[in-house]
Amino acid sequence: MTTFKNEFSWSKSRDDIFHKCQRQYYYHYYASWGGWQRNADERTRKIYVLKKLTNQHLWMGDKVHQAVRLVLEAYRKEMPIMPEDQMVERMLDNMRVDFRNSRDGLHWKNPQTCGLYEHEYQSELSDEEWKKIAKHVEDCIRNFYHSSVFEEIKAIPVDRWLAVEELANFHLSELKVYVSIDFAFRRDDGVTIYDWKSGSSVNYDQDLQMACYGWYAWQKWNVDPKSIRLVEVNLNNMDTVTYDVRGVNLEKIQKRIFNSVQDMQFLLEDIGNNQGSEARFALTEDDRFCNFCNFRKVCPKWKEEPISSEAEPTHNAQPKAKTDSIKTSS
Ligand code: SF4
Repeated sequence: MTTFKNEFSWSKSRDDIFHKCQRQYYYHYYASWGGWQRNADERTRKIYVLKKLTNQHLWMGDKVHQAVRLVLEAYRKEMPIMPEDQMVERMLDNMRVDFRNSRDGLHWKNPQTCGLYEHEYQSELSDEEWKKIAKHVEDCIRNFYHSSVFEEIKAIPVDRWLAVEELANFHLSELKVYVSIDFAFRRDDGVTIYDWKSGSSVNYDQDLQMACYGWYAWQKWNVDPKSIRLVEVNLNNMDTVTYDVRGVNLEKIQKRIFNSVQDMQFLLEDIGNNQGSEARFALTEDDRFCNFCNFRKVCPKWKEEPISSEAEPTHNAQPKAKTDSIKTSS
């Protein structure tokens, strides 16, 4: 039987969680590890199930991404594209099943089924609000079918398509870095990457995202990182924003990523084996993050579980000292 190792890697989302709350980061990347196994202990299993919870915003985005992926994959394989009404109905059916499973707590028996934060933590969402979520997904899917972006994509020969919904990785020195790519194609003078948005969130970190795309494109597709263009498409209102890597200081971003890795690894007890213990990861003092945290059911700050000596809140600030090198357990 293959045994998986909890290998250290880096991603923008990992960095985001780390900076919100170190303990949340620990639960997400360490304490949940192995929770999928039949013989996992009760707490590991519980943390794993909580990690897999989604929420209304991620859930919406996921359904819209799924629909766009199905359309593009069919087009790429020269198969019939599912008619718009049928695709909408399929996704809404999907959401109904997810909703029922989540409300009935099925994710505790099978963590691969959808569990919604709103059900797990009894967030009050009215029927009207749930309907709005479904309508939002429907609108985004319909917008895509009627968009000029879809027409433009269909006009690109498929042998120039490079990626449709891929979770990919590249290496910065020894460090494995993950990026997710919604759609990419090769131009004569570089690569264009599309990023589907379905909510109103604003990307404040384009430079970091662009740099990662640039490095990935260089390693995977052998193109100059500076030739990358990113098109963010908001499927809610079909606004598009285009960025390019030329103005991005790649050296500065690389330093920032390595600093982030050092901060994360400083808290580990065994960097080589990527292992740490709960008590070393501080609880955030900012309750705004707690209000949307999947792990409230196990976090001592919320006192729903007795505080074990190993899990004493430390409330320390960000790590001060740093290791002097980037190490991975690969
Ligand atoms: S409940 Fe708050 S302190 Fe606890 S893990 Fe979540 S964000 Fe951190």
